[in-house]
Amino acid sequence: MALKITSDCIDCGACIPVCPNDAIAEVEGRTPRTVIDPVRCTECAGFYDQPSCAEICAVDSCVADEQYPETQEELLAKKDRLHPVT
Ligand code: SF4
Repeated sequence: MALKITSDCIDCGACIPVCPNDAIAEVEGRTPRTVIDPVRCTECAGFYDQPSCAEICAVDSCVADEQYPETQEELLAKKDRLHPVT
């Protein structure tokens, strides 16, 4: 399942460069600005054992988003779609 960023986020931006799927961005006009795109988030499946955004977050604001239940197989298939071997 995708992760989401809670209202505890302080928009430090530390999570943005550690995402292997470019799933995290800042969106002006919302609070917090930092958001995770559930279409691109794979819980870091295929890259890391743990979600790297959650690991680096200083305020524990990267959490599982229950709206997007996915199996490990579905997460890995999403990762393969995002990173096709050429
Ligand atoms: Fe990106 Fe991994 Fe965080 Fe998902 S869990 S937003 S893939 S860093």
